[in-house]
Order: sequence, then C-alpha cells, then structure tokens
Amino acid sequence: MQKTCLNCGMIVDQYVQHCPKCDNALDVQHDGSTITVDIAHQGERVHEALEKMQHEIDAARAGVAMNLRLVVGSGLIRNEVLLALRDSEFRGDIKSFAAEPHNAGAVLVRLK
Ligand SMILES: [Zn+2]
Repeated sequence: MQKTCLNCGMIVDQYVQHCPKCDNALDVQHDGSTITVDIAHQGERVHEALEKMQHEIDAARAGVAMNLRLVVGSGLIRNEVLLALRDSEFRGDIKSFAAEPHNAGAVLVRLK
C-alpha cells in the first residue's frame, strides 16, 4: 500500500513517516475530514464494539482523516468506549475525544 503526501503530492510507501521530498511529517497530515462509524447498533456485545472501535481507530490513523466519529448509542457500550478512549488518549494513540454536545450517542475522536 502507498499513500500520498498531502503537502507535495509525492507518493510514498504507507509506513514512511517523513516525506522524502518535502520532509513533512506524514503521520500528522490530515485532510480535515471526519469518518463516521456505527459500532453499537448491530447487536454488538461490549467487547465486540470495543474491538470494532480499535480496528476503526487503527485504520483511520493510517489514513488522512482528522476525526473519527463513533456512534455508540446510550448504554453500556458508550460507557466502556469512553473509558477505553481515555486510555487511548493517555497513550497518545488519539489526540482527544468528546461526546457530541447535541448527540450523546456519538463520540468525536480527534486523531490528528
Ligand atoms: Zn511531501
């Protein structure tokens, strides 16, 4: 897999962290976009929802989106997701996260 430097357009291997042409830090580049994923409305158990969340975070971090919006519902999954995201934030896997002010069933995760 390859990716494109958003600064200069150079195409590089997906694991390269600094663009060889313009020296931009590729792992912090983003296009300002938000990916929305529902992890709680297909009958997921809590651990399944958390696995899904981790998979989506990993996939999104490898891409160019700025935010990942997780639709978590209002029950146990939401509580566990918020706890897991606190750990992720502490580890530096994500920049920050917040429940959406007008929709408690969704959490916005800032990736980059
Ligand atoms: Zn570049």
